[in-house]
Amino acid sequence: MKSKILVFIATYNEKLNISDLFYNIIKISPEYDVLIIDDNSTDGTKETLEKLNATHACLTVIHRPRKMGVGSAHRAAMVYALKNEYEELVTMDADFSHSPDTIPNMLEKLETSDFVIGSRYMKGGKSDYEGYRKWVSLIANKFARLTLGIKIHECTTSFRAFRVSLFNSLNLSAIKSNGYSFFLECVYELKCVDAVMTEVPIHFKDRFHGNSKIPKTEIFRSMYKLASLFLSRFYKIQTDLSNPAEIRSSCYLCNSQCVVEINHGNTINDTVGAQAYKCTSLEHKSKPQVINCLVCDLSFVPESSYPKNIETIYAEVQDPTYLLNKKSRYRTFQKSLTQISPFLADKGNLLEVGSYCGFFLDTFKKKYNDWDYIGVEPSKWAAEYARNQLKINTRTGTLEDNIKDLSSDYDAVVAWDVLEHLSDPSAFLIQINSVMKLNGIFCFSTLDIENWFPKLMGKHWPWLMEMHLFYYKTDTTEQLLNKAGFKILGAEKYIHYVSIHYLVGKIIAILPGWLEEPLNIARSAMPQKIMIPISFGDIKLYICEKEEVVY
Ligand SMILES: [Zn+2]
Repeated sequence: MKSKILVFIATYNEKLNISDLFYNIIKISPEYDVLIIDDNSTDGTKETLEKLNATHACLTVIHRPRKMGVGSAHRAAMVYALKNEYEELVTMDADFSHSPDTIPNMLEKLETSDFVIGSRYMKGGKSDYEGYRKWVSLIANKFARLTLGIKIHECTTSFRAFRVSLFNSLNLSAIKSNGYSFFLECVYELKCVDAVMTEVPIHFKDRFHGNSKIPKTEIFRSMYKLASLFLSRFYKIQTDLSNPAEIRSSCYLCNSQCVVEINHGNTINDTVGAQAYKCTSLEHKSKPQVINCLVCDLSFVPESSYPKNIETIYAEVQDPTYLLNKKSRYRTFQKSLTQISPFLADKGNLLEVGSYCGFFLDTFKKKYNDWDYIGVEPSKWAAEYARNQLKINTRTGTLEDNIKDLSSDYDAVVAWDVLEHLSDPSAFLIQINSVMKLNGIFCFSTLDIENWFPKLMGKHWPWLMEMHLFYYKTDTTEQLLNKAGFKILGAEKYIHYVSIHYLVGKIIAILPGWLEEPLNIARSAMPQKIMIPISFGDIKLYICEKEEVVY
């Protein structure tokens, strides 16, 4: 039978401490399960954990692909405890600064409270910190107590015990900090849901092996967090994000259930039709539900939140507005072709997937007349336009529909603004791999939300829209590509050229409705011909190489 108590430790380069700590914990009670989340350690911690994992059923190890932050690891552990129906969760550092012997005492206290924290600053507590670290920690905790109205003496240590049922009311989607300020934010949110909080005195020892990993910038982050939490006491905005307890979906990429909601979504129209899936769609006010995986960091729209017949919808898309912006589209493709040119040979064959009205291929054939080329496009209307108006060799349908009739040795494949629209990008990339020559070049553009612009705009970011199902960061894009046998050779900003006229139309679509009419009048007076490059870095162009065959 599964234990009801979970002890959690986050690791990053803790090879010298982690085995001893693990054995010390399981020695206390056979009732404890242990969860360790490792952020891609480079000192052999990973291998040590794998050895322990192979011989101890009570241990679960989660390897994350990169350093995603200690706060994010703790949040993942809290969601893990909730989803795996543990009753109590204990969290602690990996470096022996917290003594495992205190765990039983904390669990005892948890019988009459919701949350217990190991406290250095209450009577009987002690800290071995010296110098500036001592004073920063002491002052931060005093300040937090004073400004946030928290009754306990300690808010920042990670040595904690939670009653897991508390996570049904403590909304883990709403906690934002990924670094050390998570610990403060978490205590403040606990206070806001009226959790019963208790502290037990601890002797906080300086780490046994290795150096402290708290970067100095974390001090400023914590100060900023403290100030923003203080202000939120006066204007706390109710979050609309769903609690992870209510999210049934697991991660598309790593299958983890440790997911939180990052955008609640407000699908205005239940019967989202082909209208919202046009390239020039202005349906920016209708936003999808987006969830983020705390293990691999992928952000995506859960399958339950978008129409099942998405391929039929794309097949039916008609978009005459796109043709009105023909000039700016050609300009955009001329630029991307310049960016990928250094990777293309003098001769070869190229496939474009999602070739729409054929503007890229038309640009390509003029510059590369020794190349063979073909386009594949789901929209019947767009494919017909490419064939009839531009005489571009285009097949109608998805890549999957056409794969049997395509060559299997393309030198280059391109897919502009496609990857974020697909319901199964992994399968798509594997299909691309299967039609390419080894060492062939695959170029594409897609979203990058690890960028200042989407961060600044939040839910008003214009590319957060119904037709986009995946919101990548360079790291998650790379994980997907590697799985499909590709390696990234280069990544650059993707530059869209737009007419001022079109841009203003997009801006109007984001602004409140009452501004629409006056701005549309102003827009009609604007020149249609002037084009400007738009490149915030939130759309990236990737150049990749097929380095292995994947089936
Ligand atoms: Zn994941």
